[in-house]
Amino acid sequence: MEIHKIKSGITNCYIIGDKSKVLIDTGMPGEFDKFKQSLKDLDIAPEQISYLIITHGHWDNIGNASKIKDLTGAKVLAHKNDRELIEEGRKFIPSGVTKWGKILRPLLNLMIKKFSMEPTQVDIEINDEDFSLEKFGVKGRILFTPGHSPGSVSVLLDTGEAFVGDMAMNALPLTICPELPIFAEDLAEVKTSWEKLIAKGATTIYPANGDAFLISKISDKIA
Ligand SMILES: [Zn+2]
Repeated sequence: MEIHKIKSGITNCYIIGDKSKVLIDTGMPGEFDKFKQSLKDLDIAPEQISYLIITHGHWDNIGNASKIKDLTGAKVLAHKNDRELIEEGRKFIPSGVTKWGKILRPLLNLMIKKFSMEPTQVDIEINDEDFSLEKFGVKGRILFTPGHSPGSVSVLLDTGEAFVGDMAMNALPLTICPELPIFAEDLAEVKTSWEKLIAKGATTIYPANGDAFLISKISDKIA
């Protein structure tokens, strides 16, 4: 299955699937024109994107959701616990759970004031059970992996690739190598979610920030 990364500010969106595509996350607010250009460069027509999975309801993952939904006609999937953030278009950063996270959070909160975000209607609500993507043409499933936010989910392909949102961070100004998130609502829950992903066969990790990496790069940080 094809995997494409589209960079949107400090955040990544991913497009997976063959004929019919699934988009994972929508990037930072204000990056919509860049997103459209990236689709053109990849030779993907907007109508090919049938579903949009939101890993969690934070500003840098839902920033262009409303515009992308209008452009593609995609149905939006998100976990019920983050639905309110998405449908209100609310900008939120969870508490810093590392020294750097505690320093960076107030600065980011200042920075994101300038962004305006539109609310986006969620069409398909994900619950705590695994959600098969077979009927969307993707051999894989959505797993409930809370901790960074109460409604965080990951997309795990049968071949081991896992799109984990902010369960890991791998880019400046957040981290310099693959790390657990520097912001989280419940770090213990993040670790439990990692154990679940590992048990279910995740091998290559595609984070919302930075490059993909092998799961061995983070497994010692989970223990
Ligand atoms: Zn986040």
